[in-house]
Amino acid sequence: MHYFEYRNDELYAEEVSVNELVREFDTPLYIYSAKTLRRHFRAFDSAFEGIDHLTCYSVKANSNICVLKLLSEMGSGMDIVSGGELFRTLKAGIDPQKIVYSGVGKRENEIREALISNILMFNVESRQELEKIDRIAGEMDTQARISLRINPDVDPKTHPYIATGLQKSKFGLDLEQALESYRLAGDLPHILPIGIDCHIGSQLTSVEPFLEALERIKIFHGHLQEMGLEIKYLDLGGGLGITYDQEAPPHPAEFGQAVRESLKDLDLTLILEPGRVIAGNAGILVTRVLYTKSTPSKNFLIVDAAMNDLLRPSLYGSYHHIAPVEQKNGKTLQTVDVVGPICESGDFLAQGRELPETAQDELLAIFSAGAYGFTMSSQYNSRPRPAEVLVDKDEITLARRKEIYFDLLQLEEQCY
Ligand SMILES: *Cc1c(COP(=O)(O)O)cnc(C)c1O
Repeated sequence: MHYFEYRNDELYAEEVSVNELVREFDTPLYIYSAKTLRRHFRAFDSAFEGIDHLTCYSVKANSNICVLKLLSEMGSGMDIVSGGELFRTLKAGIDPQKIVYSGVGKRENEIREALISNILMFNVESRQELEKIDRIAGEMDTQARISLRINPDVDPKTHPYIATGLQKSKFGLDLEQALESYRLAGDLPHILPIGIDCHIGSQLTSVEPFLEALERIKIFHGHLQEMGLEIKYLDLGGGLGITYDQEAPPHPAEFGQAVRESLKDLDLTLILEPGRVIAGNAGILVTRVLYTKSTPSKNFLIVDAAMNDLLRPSLYGSYHHIAPVEQKNGKTLQTVDVVGPICESGDFLAQGRELPETAQDELLAIFSAGAYGFTMSSQYNSRPRPAEVLVDKDEITLARRKEIYFDLLQLEEQCY
């Protein structure tokens, strides 16, 4: 669901013509819809109405400060995975008591910064991390609130790169190790274990793996109670999928209903870390066709966006719906590869795609690019990153200006 719609065969972002945005901000261009972000946040958050819960949007999905502010105004907390994301959330004015910090490799300075900020809790992923946090908290004469990220060993049935809750994954602790680490956590003077955390993967299209994980967590929670630990929070992570192509993930209301049912006998505050389901379909990437080229085996649309702007197709073989910004009737379909200018054969946005015949200089919209789009971008091939604009009805905010050549060099001053 989103508010990118055609009016008289021309694509609009809410009340604003995409053509008009391109005239002002050039291509490639990321466009986000505020109304879509709000709607998705509300749909997700209200699925847990009536129980104690905190929705902590996963910053890595789309970390533009304008997006963080918008979600924060709706009451969202934040799930961060780095000191840089902590910096962003604090700059966006997020209440630190609504910030949880996940990630397998937290550095000493990052832990210190999070303690200084007095975030709600750390989601700890190893015994050594637990010991490090205890030591730093001790040096700072404070106590760190923590959850341990447990790895319930369930198969989320998603792309292997974004499956995170299997035993072979680098994330979290298996149940046995986790139990040992909770015992240690209970004894460490500067650690306060207050929660259980898990995040089994991303782009899940069924509630079953979540419920399977919850069953294991409930049993595990029983063991912690026997140990005498006062657990107040259950962080179920993120991972609810969206429709890119033909997927039919559960609606957040259905997901919420199933989770609430499973947790009804537990007196815990639920934390959720949705990313993709909030931002994914709230953004598009607009690109211009530079050249069309037919070889004996293929038709190519060579466009001005590339894998450095949107990595998902190259990294995961992901599908993104692509459509012309201006629809024209009576066009025949053509099977094409949509590729970027980068010097890699893996630089494609779609392969073997049926699109209406597209000419040089036409604009294409790449849908579902609001999550893991700009945040995964790079300057590979010395390509300045595109602008990001946020549209709210007819209001346009330049959320991040287009990079200029000088931005490519400014940290190399000593060399020129
Ligand atoms: C990436 C991530 C999320 C968000 O995942 P989505 O699939 O975007 O909802 C939540 N929690 C953690 C720990 C993550 O790493």
